Amino acid sequence: MTKPVLTIVVPCYNEEAVLGETMKQLCQFLDQMIQENMVSPSSKLLFVDDGSKDKTWPLIYRAGLDNNMIKGIKLSRNCGHQNALLAGLFAASEGSDCTVSIDADLQDDITVIRAFIEEYKRGHEIVYGVRKERSVDTPFKRLSAIGFYKIMKALGVDIIFNHADFRLMSSRAIKELQHFGEINLFLRGIVPLIGFKSTTVSYDRAERFAGETKYPLRKMLSFALDGITSFSVTPIRFISLIGFLSFIVSLLFGCYFFILKFSGHTQTGWTSLITSIWLIGGLQLIAIGFIGEYVGKIYKESKRRPRYIIDIDTYNLARPHNTNLASDHFSTDQLLEEGNR
Ligand code: UDP
Ligand code: MG
Repeated sequence: MTKPVLTIVVPCYNEEAVLGETMKQLCQFLDQMIQENMVSPSSKLLFVDDGSKDKTWPLIYRAGLDNNMIKGIKLSRNCGHQNALLAGLFAASEGSDCTVSIDADLQDDITVIRAFIEEYKRGHEIVYGVRKERSVDTPFKRLSAIGFYKIMKALGVDIIFNHADFRLMSSRAIKELQHFGEINLFLRGIVPLIGFKSTTVSYDRAERFAGETKYPLRKMLSFALDGITSFSVTPIRFISLIGFLSFIVSLLFGCYFFILKFSGHTQTGWTSLITSIWLIGGLQLIAIGFIGEYVGKIYKESKRRPRYIIDIDTYNLARPHNTNLASDHFSTDQLLEEGNR
């Protein structure tokens, strides 16, 4: 088989602490694979700056001036991990046979990419990196992650257990991914929907090399809730079920109360009254909240806003067939200035 052109896509948000090391390790590794004739010499690293507020973009840009292998895309603002990843994958699919997406923090074992490529050569279009164990995570993160996968499975969403966004995708698979137009993006749920021949490769996950997690508890919870409500209407059904059950229960109670009334045993039941008011009120608010979550999703989808906006793209700069070149809009001096910003 001919050597595939590989692009490694790395979304970065405020990663100046770790980026230098990540670039060094990935460059060395890609170089090695090129030397071993595993991948084509025109393989690239593509760093997507997701509107960082620190020196992430200048770092990417300068590295690209010294090393032709390093390319960068700067998004116009922080669009979120999933959108940054998507921007990178779509840009990379143009000029490569396959792409590997990996986080900037070196938590995923980069040497596993070799196994990804082997599986790709065996004809797999999607290769999922799966963590063997989560011993480096805090017990809370471990438990919440396991709980999340369990809930997703129970709700009938087909996601790969312990797989984050470390995966190989062929350009053909990415072309198909482009047809999934949803704004509420949860790639882990969407990618299995593409189908094609796919497999998993397991690896040990390390601790973050440097810097802090960009997923604090609040973001993590909202990401999990997004994942659930983007793929499953089971929560709404569950609420309808609770509503139906409480209706039946209230009918039974109604009968009971009437019997009590006519047999002359009624008491001024303030306690039961106030309890049920609070209970039903609470249930109703939860139900409305859940439905609101879905209505909000429909609202967002119906606006069809762009998922990301590219400010500068040095990856497709070198590709003459691409009409959306940064060079059309910026002179080299301007680009350099941007790099220093
Ligand atoms: N990230 C991003 N945009 C964001 C948040 C995170 O591009 O708004 C990137 C981040 O730079 C990293 C990856 O997404 O490369 C995963 O983030 P992190 O490692 O902080 O998440 P964790 O591994 O702690 O779940
Ligand atoms: Mg991480």
